[in-house]
Amino acid sequence: MTDPLHDPASELVVALNKFQKERVDEAKAKGEPMFMGLPDRWYDPPGPKWRCLKGHVSRHYIGSERFGPQCPKCLGCLILTFPEDCES
Ligand SMILES: [Zn+2]
Repeated sequence: MTDPLHDPASELVVALNKFQKERVDEAKAKGEPMFMGLPDRWYDPPGPKWRCLKGHVSRHYIGSERFGPQCPKCLGCLILTFPEDCES
């Protein structure tokens, strides 16, 4: 059984990954320094921000052995996001 909050083929997960890729591409186009494929400044203190597939943004996540980091509000999968991102 697939879980729509984590299935890489589900629309929400695809949209989330697209959101991140667009932000990364913008940063690359501006010549921002990168670390592990993401803009360096996304890791700056006070630490990375996470966005989930439902639009929750937080500096916290719940670790899960099966799915990796999950949103503390909805348990959806997460991406690292840019520091100015806020909940939509
Ligand atoms: Zn969430």
